Amino acid sequence: MASSHTVLMRLVASAYSIAQKAGAIVRRVIAEGDLGIVEKTSATDLQTKADRLVQMSICSSLARKFPKLTIIGEEDLPPEDVDQELIEDGQWEEILKQPCPSQYSSIKEEDLVVWVDPLDGTKEYTEGLLDNVTVLIGIAYEGKAIAGVINQPYYNYQNNEKQKLREHRSEAKAGPDAVLGRTIWGVLGLGAFGFQLKEVPAGKHIITTTRSHNNKLVSDCVTAMNPDDVLRVGGAGNKILQLIEGKASAYVFASPGCKKWDTCAPEVILHAVGGKLTDIHGNALQYNKEVKHMNSAGVLATLRNYDYYASRVPESVKNALVP
Ligand code: AMP
Ligand code: MG
Ligand code: MG
Repeated sequence: MASSHTVLMRLVASAYSIAQKAGAIVRRVIAEGDLGIVEKTSATDLQTKADRLVQMSICSSLARKFPKLTIIGEEDLPPEDVDQELIEDGQWEEILKQPCPSQYSSIKEEDLVVWVDPLDGTKEYTEGLLDNVTVLIGIAYEGKAIAGVINQPYYNYQNNEKQKLREHRSEAKAGPDAVLGRTIWGVLGLGAFGFQLKEVPAGKHIITTTRSHNNKLVSDCVTAMNPDDVLRVGGAGNKILQLIEGKASAYVFASPGCKKWDTCAPEVILHAVGGKLTDIHGNALQYNKEVKHMNSAGVLATLRNYDYYASRVPESVKNALVP
């Protein structure tokens, strides 16, 4: 029997369940203790066993249910048979109870592009900064990010910068009474769910930026914004969570390095609650399947007061970053 639900809402409902399984895999790899770290382009561009397993899990699970989708995942993996144990077939029923925004009701499977970051914040994951990590599944239509799911496997985790990874392995658990991990989802025109929206106190300029990929352009841009405080944390997903939960007022990354799979899902969640994410020049990011993966002109994102930050990007920084 044909489903009465739209392709988009069925896809988001499946992506939610798939992201939850992904979070469980991220935790399991830590618990087992062998991260299987591989350097990709440099010592700050890493891949672990969790990045590999989660990408296989997400991409195979989606492709089985939605064979006509275009799915673009971060990791370059050799083709291999995927263990049945990695496949997630569920769909989150609460999402299917929501109405599909009318402008998306006739979208076909083959019109959608899914951008997958199986583990965002890998460098921090290898260093035991576990609450920096997110799993990102972004959905695009006609080049625009329209729906997204973010799983944060270690939400509620009692993080302590000074602890060693060795200790984290045995203590990767939530505080008393807290459930470890959460899933946030959103669709443009419908809203974003799974968190409590909060704003930074009025007049405070708190910038969140990279912890592992800093350079002179990034620093020059942050300094020019005259911030009250600068937070340096891992992950694009994590930084967008800071914007929507009142911990930071702008995400500033004036450098290439961040890719479409880093920004697609986070951008949707931010836009669904009235925020704005662009490159450092103010251009919208494009997510059609032919687009280059690199966000060459960086990222500027805010929940409110976008113009304050955009107007302070130095010309020298803009001139150095070609879209
Ligand atoms: P960060 O804010 O440093 O955690 O970066 C956000 C996302 O962009 C992460 O997925 C990083 O891996 C990626 N990224 C940023 N800069 C670089 C870079 N120079 N090389 C590789 N990946 C980068
Ligand atoms: Mg990433
Ligand atoms: Mg990644």
